[in-house]
Amino acid sequence: MLRLVPDFAFVAGSLVEQPVIGVDDAGRICAPVESAPLRRLAGRLLLPGFVNAHSHAFQRVLRGRTELRGEGNESDDFWSWRERMYQAATALSPEQLYAVSRQTFLEMALAGVTTVGEFHYVQHQADGTPYDDVSLLAKTVIQAARDVGLRIVLLRVGYARAGHQVAPNPRQRRFIDPDVEVFLSRVEALRRSVADPLVSVGLAPHSVRAVPKEWLRRIVEARLPGPLHMHVAEQPAELRASLAETGRRPIELLADVGVLGPNFTGVHAIHLEANEVALLGQSRSMVCACPTTERNLGDGIVRADELMTAGVEFSLGSDSHAHIDLLDEAKQLEGHLRLLRLSRAVLFPKQVDGARESELGRVLLRSLTVAGARSLGVDTGALTVGQPADFVTLDVNHHTMVGAPKEALLTAAVLGASSAAIRDVAVQGRFIVEEGRHALSEQSAAAYSKVVDTLR
Ligand SMILES: [Zn+2]
Repeated sequence: MLRLVPDFAFVAGSLVEQPVIGVDDAGRICAPVESAPLRRLAGRLLLPGFVNAHSHAFQRVLRGRTELRGEGNESDDFWSWRERMYQAATALSPEQLYAVSRQTFLEMALAGVTTVGEFHYVQHQADGTPYDDVSLLAKTVIQAARDVGLRIVLLRVGYARAGHQVAPNPRQRRFIDPDVEVFLSRVEALRRSVADPLVSVGLAPHSVRAVPKEWLRRIVEARLPGPLHMHVAEQPAELRASLAETGRRPIELLADVGVLGPNFTGVHAIHLEANEVALLGQSRSMVCACPTTERNLGDGIVRADELMTAGVEFSLGSDSHAHIDLLDEAKQLEGHLRLLRLSRAVLFPKQVDGARESELGRVLLRSLTVAGARSLGVDTGALTVGQPADFVTLDVNHHTMVGAPKEALLTAAVLGASSAAIRDVAVQGRFIVEEGRHALSEQSAAAYSKVVDTLR
């Protein structure tokens, strides 16, 4: 039992001054109990923990290594970046994948993330042979997240092919399952192996490029529990290929086969026509935007304003981890739209659950918390009684926050603060970051640096 008393908290949808927040022995929010020890969080703004709804943890090793042009690399785009990403994916042993994933998750924890959706597609040995335990690498990534203290939803990827009428790429061997039944059985085997309540499993058919229509039909028909995520409409080449193969644009194809729905999250959803926006909205599908990665890779700008108007909720992800700062993802969701629309406060105000949001910060914070939780099928994000005590605190006196007006505190936090203002992070009531420090920082950094040295 514990009672938390921050200066400010955003709980159950309202900003409250000097609240007393109860946390029970199971790590859930409860009514405060007088006899429970009091933990004063002076000078802190307490928010629900951030949900990073789209991650490929291993891609962090590419940071700083792919920002160049040179001989044999005169132009650089998503596709040339992808080849270098495949080199890294091919090279990592299970032990190395653990060290890299742990460092990525640790960086997330320090940036206020309490739940990660790991879109996991490196499954097999380098030549494509499954490990003796076919879920070894998925379990390795789960272990890394749990050792850091994060809640994780492992989105187990289905990957069938390089593309329609595209020759197999040897660098994709680690991703591929032989057929859809084998894929589904492997997802279920992984799910059955999980005993930790902070771990859950979802499905992630990789994209319409990597997964044919027949797989998608069967995946829908199988009705496995958990969320369903897919990369969609990230690059124009993907929709040209979809049109050539099926005569349908990616979202139209997903509508045809029954993938769209409240359980579905389309990751990126950048290159859409108006009818695709409408299909996503009508089906109550969600979109996960990854603005720092989309900017880094030159993908384009997601039309979050049009999609939100159509009824689509947004979650956010740091995806390739070119940068890990969830507050920055929220800033750039809005920021990119300002550049595109030549306007300000583009996402303000929007109808969210029928209520007019009175602050831009609330709209963006919703994407980082409640909407992220919905996208991953976890019951967090609002800090209501009964929910897990997954939260983050920011130092209101940090130089990026100091002097923020009370009535605009959330907006000042989301649009003005850097993740350096983050002080405490707790998952299921357990503090994993205190005073901006994580206990594994040195150990994890050393192990990570050793792996990166071998990749040179
Ligand atoms: Zn991705």
